Amino acid sequence: MARIVMKFGGSSVADIERIRNVARHVKREVDAGNQVAVVVSAMAGTTNQLIAWVRQANDNYDPREYDSVVASGEQVTSGLLALALQAIGVDARSWLGWQIPLRTDGNHNSARITDIDGTDLIACLEKGQVAVIAGFQGIAPENRMTTLGRGGSDTSGVAVAAAMSADRCDIYTDVDGVYTTDPRIEPKARRLNRIAFEEMLEMASLGAKVLQVRSVELAMVHKVRTFVRSSFNAPDAPGMDDPLNPPGTLICDEDEIMEQQVVTGIAFARDEAQISLRRLDDKPGISAAIFGPLAEASINVDMIVQNISEDGSKTDMTFTVPTVDLDKAVRILEKNRRSITSEVIQSEKGLAKVSVIGIGMRSHAGVAATAFRALAEKSINIRAITTSEIKISILIDSAYTELAVRTLHTVYGLDKAS
Ligand code: ADP
Ligand code: ASP
Ligand code: MG
Repeated sequence: MARIVMKFGGSSVADIERIRNVARHVKREVDAGNQVAVVVSAMAGTTNQLIAWVRQANDNYDPREYDSVVASGEQVTSGLLALALQAIGVDARSWLGWQIPLRTDGNHNSARITDIDGTDLIACLEKGQVAVIAGFQGIAPENRMTTLGRGGSDTSGVAVAAAMSADRCDIYTDVDGVYTTDPRIEPKARRLNRIAFEEMLEMASLGAKVLQVRSVELAMVHKVRTFVRSSFNAPDAPGMDDPLNPPGTLICDEDEIMEQQVVTGIAFARDEAQISLRRLDDKPGISAAIFGPLAEASINVDMIVQNISEDGSKTDMTFTVPTVDLDKAVRILEKNRRSITSEVIQSEKGLAKVSVIGIGMRSHAGVAATAFRALAEKSINIRAITTSEIKISILIDSAYTELAVRTLHTVYGLDKAS
């Protein structure tokens, strides 16, 4: 007997028929003698609809009320799945974040989990009942609802698995694992049997939305055995009940992977914007004056490029921010104009970041040069480049995103054999 957490994303619970299908997956694990906790997302499209309503009601919204509205999507699915399980003879009940309790910090709309008391959940499982948990939501120190940021039910799933010392956390979604790139963009993408935590962290933070970044961090820190698998496979398909090697992708330590490729995957993020500060004073403290206020406003700055100054007194600085934060970032820079002292602030939308990821890069030279050559052959202009030990990120015009992803996928030998 094992204790497992099964997390189902929005497309897996999109309507009542799919919720019934999820119930059959859960029943399979219960019938195999396992203790099961389930974490559910809102039905597909619901969270977007709730956010749109919040904005219509008050564009300058109170983040605490946003959380109260937006968390409701998961409440609905947790109740519906508990009902669907009861309908097929499985004892089940729903759990909301505050009932567990799943505690977070007070950073509304993007809260971090601080503590999960697993006592009541474990007692529920031990009496043979399935706990159906509303993902994405928690409770702040002053007892207000919080949500964990888009895609946050993945993090709920892994965190609950860690808190209950579960043997496994299965993340069920609309694809049957983690692929070498988004299979919606590149049909030749291959499913990976295993991917290292570090690589999955890079893939997720560089745009692959299959897992929320924080869920991967938690899985890595707490050593949660996490599989990404499909809820669209038939619940009784061969191998679905294999406890050690279920069909899907295992996120694991690097030394559990036998055949390491140089490049494991390609990720991309559209909706990048660029800000350029021209003719800045080239003096100590200028970077702190620019990036300090942006960090305080929780704006994620990436790809910072500073030119060598021609005359030792003036320089240019360029960096990227998510498009949604562009106007806010420019406003903040304008407000701090006195300490920033740049002559011109320019901004541009419509960019994309394409990244090549693989821990094999640590020990191989020439990986970046291959990417640059391949993109040049397709006449794709590179606007900025950043690298780390295991990734290269390239900024391009977003109109070329698909072409760049497919080109890099092919040049690193990731295409599946046709
Ligand atoms: P859920 O609703 O189950 O949380 P998401 O839509 O958040 O599902 O994530 C699944 C989607 O992630 C897939 O449909 C796929 O298009 C996308 N995706 C992006 N990159 C990858 C990748 N490398 N491997 C698998 N899926 C990916
Ligand atoms: N429903 C939330 C979202 O759409 C959380 C999740 O699905 O993981 O972002
Ligand atoms: Mg998701």
